Parts: sequence; structure tokens; C-alpha cells
Amino acid sequence: MTESAPGPGPDEPQCSAKGCRAAAVWALRWNNPKIHTPDRRKIWLACDEHRESLSAFLARRDFLKDVVPVEDRDA
Ligand SMILES: [Zn+2]
Repeated sequence: MTESAPGPGPDEPQCSAKGCRAAAVWALRWNNPKIHTPDRRKIWLACDEHRESLSAFLARRDFLKDVVPVEDRDA
């Protein structure tokens, strides 16, 4: 677990979309009931641009649990 530092840096969370290097703004929390226990949360990070496509991908599979601001992803 890293402390969040202000400004860009090597630890700045990045969008999980393929080929995207934008700073993540959103955290998509999801769970695949076939392989994860119900309280387990996997996290994808997304920039503003990819939030919709990534969350739609997870929602189609009924994996998506919630979408929160990236700084709240561990809450
Ligand atoms: Zn992105």
C-alpha cells in the first residue's frame, strides 16, 4: 500500500484500459463469482474516457459492483 502523494509521480494510478496511459480518475470494483469469494474485490482503474467502456464490459458479465473515485478505491 503506497501513500498518495500530490502531483504526478511513478506511483500515480494509471488507467487499466489497454494502451491508455492516462491518470486514473475512477476505480471500478468488481467480482467474478466463479473465481472470487463474494467479499473479494478486484479493481480496475479508469480515466474519464474509459470509465464507460470498462464498466460496460464488467456490467455485461454481471461482475461490476461499484464505481468510486480512485482515491476511495480501498474504502
Ligand atoms: Zn483510459
